[in-house]
This record gives sequence, C-alpha cells and structure tokens, in this order.
Amino acid sequence: MVARSSAHCQIEAAASDAWRRELGQAFTRVEPLLAFLGLRRDQVPTLDPEPGPFRLLVPRGFAALMRAGGPADPLLRQVLPLAAERVLTAGFRCDPVGDGPAAQAPGLLRKYAGRALLLAQGACAVHCRYCFRRHFPYGDLGTYDSRIGLALAQIQADTTLHEIILSGGDPLLLADGALGDLLARLAAIPHVRRLRLHSRLPLVLPSRITARLCALLGTVTPRPVLVIHANHARELGAAAQAGLAALGAVGVTLLNQSVLLRGVNDDAATLAALSERLFDCGVLPYYLHQLDPVQGAAHFAVSDREARGLMAALRARLPGYLVPRLVRETAGAPCKEPLG
Ligand SMILES: *Cc1c(COP(=O)(O)O)cnc(C)c1O
Repeated sequence: MVARSSAHCQIEAAASDAWRRELGQAFTRVEPLLAFLGLRRDQVPTLDPEPGPFRLLVPRGFAALMRAGGPADPLLRQVLPLAAERVLTAGFRCDPVGDGPAAQAPGLLRKYAGRALLLAQGACAVHCRYCFRRHFPYGDLGTYDSRIGLALAQIQADTTLHEIILSGGDPLLLADGALGDLLARLAAIPHVRRLRLHSRLPLVLPSRITARLCALLGTVTPRPVLVIHANHARELGAAAQAGLAALGAVGVTLLNQSVLLRGVNDDAATLAALSERLFDCGVLPYYLHQLDPVQGAAHFAVSDREARGLMAALRARLPGYLVPRLVRETAGAPCKEPLG
C-alpha cells in the first residue's frame, strides 16, 4: 500500500511539472523536427507532412539522441510519418492482435491465463509509427474513474487473475497520485500476486523517473515489474540509464521488449548492441516481437525466415540471458507464440 496525504499531493504537483512541461514542448510537426536535426525536406522525400490523427509526437530529449544530418537514423525512422503509411496492404488490419474481442470491460483485455491487461489511459509521450494500437478507439473508453472502477470490480471478482499489466497508452503518464492509488487498489486484491507496467517513458521522457515515482514504485507490494520498450541501443542515453538505475535500486524488476523493425534493428550487430546496452542499464531482454500487422506499418515488416536467422546469429554471439525470445502475437492464441 502507498501512504498518501494532501501534502504529498501538493509536492507531487510541483515535482511533476518538469516532465509535463517537457512533454508539452515535444515536436508535433515534421518541419521543426527536421530543422532540429539539420535535415532538408528533400533528404527525406518519402515523408508524409500531414499524417492525420496519428500525428507526429517526439519529445525533444528523444530527438536529441538521433544523429543530426542522418535521414535514415533508426530512432528517427520509428517516429517519422511516411507516405508509405497510406498504402493499404493485404493482411494488415486496424486491430491486428484482436484487442477488440479480448475486452472484458472497457480497457480490460483478457487474452492469456492468469493475466489481464489494463489500459490505464490512452496517451503516449511518443508516437511510434508501427504502433499496433495506432487505430485503437481510446475515445470510446469512457471516463477514467468509471472505467477503472468497473475494471477493478472485475479483477476483484475473478480469483484466477494473478497478474495485472498496466498498459495503454503509457501508464506512466498518469500523475503520481492516480498511479499510486491504482497500484494500491490492485495490490490490495489478495489474488493479484504480480503487478507489471509497460512503458516507453524511461527512454523517451526520462525526466518522468522522479525520486517521487521511485519512492512510489519502491513501496508497492508486490514490487512492480517494469517492461520498457527499446528497439535500439542509442535510445538508452545517460538520462535513461540514471532513471533505470534508480528504479532498479528500489527493487523494480526491469525487462525490455523490442519490435523487429526493417531499417531500425534488422541486423544482428544492432540487436546484440541493444542487449549489451540494456544489461549495462540493469535491464534484461525479454521479447523481440515480430511486427503486428497493423495497417500503415507494412514497410517495417521483416520476414520470419530473416527473423529466425537473426536469432541464430544472436545466440552465436551472446550469453543466453541476453538473447530475447522471438515471438508473435496472434489474435485468439493462448500466449505469444514462440518463433523458434
Ligand atoms: C502481451 C500481453 C500480455 C502479457 O503476455 P506475457 O507473455 O505474460 O508477457 C497479457 N495480456 C495481453 C492482452 C497481452 O497482449
């Protein structure tokens, strides 16, 4: 349980200003991002300057990790809207992993034994162009309080649920008060034995990892597992490393999941460097996902044959604990399916 008081909440509001301010200053348009990177429009002729509702969103700190003057930078490629996103590709869908049919309550997804995913809120700090929830109808979820109330009632009633995974959107975009309250209410349910958060904020907005957040996560019992999402070693800058060290120091278990992405991390040296950098930051590789076939992301796809070849190359050069599991999520399957 997390102790809270109104005095705490006031301190929290002040402390949260820095990362919220930083998020407010994120790039939301293509031109200023290109200017920041010293790139001319004609160096990226494939871009889409008007990407529609899934707009460009890149925190400045993340942009600062990109190589200036590099139109093919693997970090830039993850966030830069391309005209290719408008191409309709057979087999690529709006709900590629069956989130819709898996909803037990608004934002409570139940696919696998013993675990449920709770979409804490809909916003992210970065818009990854390959996002499998880029078409998710977050607007239909209803208000936070009513939705979370319904979800908690369902979780309370289902004694077969042993792990709750906060996802989103990004659950670390919740204010400390709301996050602490939610974790405390989940932790108070006797059959919930594990709490997990999936977040990209430690990398794309490391200022979110405040001392207060660490204190909050470090006093929840059971201590949460935090699965970050890095696709490339260079995403783990000095600020991310410091934040992750602080989280590790309070007993948070740190894992990473990546997506295998054409032009970002589709070679063995890049994947090996990512695993080694993760270890330096106290994080173990967990999953390497085959791309979810979401409409608009087909240009990121890597074939299964190539993916298996990359895994063989990784196994040949890294200790087993630095080799992630290659998996695919298939709508309706009982677990994420291993691809060997
Ligand atoms: C990925 C996922 C999980 C977690 O799966 P693990 O294999 O335990 O990491 C749980 N629920 C849903 C709906 C998921 O998509």
